[in-house]
Order: sequence, then C-alpha cells, then structure tokens
Amino acid sequence: MTIANQLEERFVRYAAMDSQSADGMKGTPSTKTQLELQETLTKELEDLGASDVRLTEHGIVIATVPATVEGAPTVAFLAHVDTALDYAASNVKPIVHRNYNGSPIVLPGDPVQVLDEITAPELMDRVGDTIITADGTTLLGADDKSGVAVIMTMVERLIADPSIPHGPVRICFTPDEEIGTGIAKVSLEELAADVAYTLDGDKLGDVTYESFSADKAVVRITGVSIHPGKAKGRLVNALTLAAKLLNLLPQHTRTPETTDGREGFIHATRMNGSSAHVELQFILRDFERDGLAAHGEALRAA
Ligand SMILES: [Zn+2]
Repeated sequence: MTIANQLEERFVRYAAMDSQSADGMKGTPSTKTQLELQETLTKELEDLGASDVRLTEHGIVIATVPATVEGAPTVAFLAHVDTALDYAASNVKPIVHRNYNGSPIVLPGDPVQVLDEITAPELMDRVGDTIITADGTTLLGADDKSGVAVIMTMVERLIADPSIPHGPVRICFTPDEEIGTGIAKVSLEELAADVAYTLDGDKLGDVTYESFSADKAVVRITGVSIHPGKAKGRLVNALTLAAKLLNLLPQHTRTPETTDGREGFIHATRMNGSSAHVELQFILRDFERDGLAAHGEALRAA
C-alpha cells in the first residue's frame, strides 16, 4: 500500500463517521459521536505502536511517537475531529474520483449540485489528481478529517521507519473546534511541545503563522408591545430598533465583505425576533487585541 492509498483509506473511513459538534450542549465533547471517533483513533494509535496514548476526560486524544534522535525539539501536530454544524453530517458517503479530468462533477445524491470551474474554481488546478467529494446530501467533513488522516498516516510512516530522524512527536486530536470550546481543554503542560502545528484548511503548501482573535456578541432588544390600534406615542418596535442598530454600524468598512487580510470586522450573523423582542448575534474579529476591543466599543456605542 502506498502512502497515498493509506491516506485515502483513512480519510474515507473517518469521513463516513458522523462526528458533528453541537451548539448549546453542556460539557466537552458536545456530542457522543465525536467520542466514538476519538475511541477509534485511540485504538488505531495503540495498534500502530504509538506511546502514551490517552483519551482525556474531555475527549481529547494525546499520543507520542518516540524520538529517533537525541536532543531534537518536541513537535506537536494537532487536528480537530468535529465537523461543521450548518449541514447534514450523518450517512456521509465519500466518493473517490480518480485521475480527475477537469469536467464538472455532478453529485449523485443531489444532481442539482455540480462542482465546476464556477462553483469550485480551485478544482481546475487539480486535473490528474484524486478528488474526494460527498454525494451532495451531506457535508464531506474534509475540515478536518483530512488533517486527522494526514497525521495518522504520518504516525504510521514514522513508526514503520525508524531511520527517519526526528525528536519526540506529540499527536493531539481535539473535539468541538467548530463551536470554539475544544482547544481550551488542551493542557499545554501535558502536550509538552516546543512547537506545535495545526493541520487544517487551505491549499497545499500554505502555512498560516498567525490568527485573528474573535469575540461573539449578542444584542437583545426589548420593545414595548402595545395593540397597534392604541399604539400612538407608546409602542416601541424592537424590529425598528434592530434595523437602526444595524444602520449605525460601519457598512463600507469593518465588514467581512469590505475587508481583507489582517483587517478586522464586525459581522452580523443572525437576527431573530418579533416587534416585542429581537436578538442579534455578531462575530467580531481582529488580529490585534486593541482592534477587537474597538469593535466591541463600536457595537456598544451604536
Ligand atoms: Zn477546521
């Protein structure tokens, strides 16, 4: 079996396992399915011969590939096992398209969905490669099962070939990345790495060396409900106030659609409600703590 075969076999197997995280649950991991995948990975790491394999009380998998040379730094590799919340994630049926010829890929579970140069322009750089898609009825979960599959295959390769020189390699698979709670449960003392890399997202060869900080903001507006027939001078409509608030926020700067690179933003993500109550949700992002605080201030001022 080549490394590419090992990688593909693992990726397809992990992708088929539902491990979606869930909002608003108590405890980490937020779903039992994530724990099932973590148990599979724990067993597989033990079978591959990794050391110190441990599934923590928060559903984090930690393991070591022992060093083959003395005195080299300890390097950790991380990936998250959960998948995004916005799409169906059960019964994922990965489809392997070998030797991709550049023509549109019709997803058979929902033939309206077609991957082509318009919907997925990056595909055009991958002619001749193996492409793996879902069947159109679910997400695929390549974010971040691909990271998990790469790290597991690396473990297999490093253990199988002790002639590859490396220091201690630490492995860490985390749950609940998509809801932002899993990584907080990782003990850096236990990970005990000199440097760490997360394998997640983006193109082959891209390395991200800094990340933004983010806050979530919730604004609740309570209006004054009066029967519309007797409302003059008394009714205060929460929907009207919500619209005013959105209008007071920056629209030509500091939004995701008007910024790029290291520029921060205030992103309205959700609005629910009625004339009596409205709840608005925002994501605030910035590469600098001062900037992040300033976005929060702008929201408060509005
Ligand atoms: Zn991810």
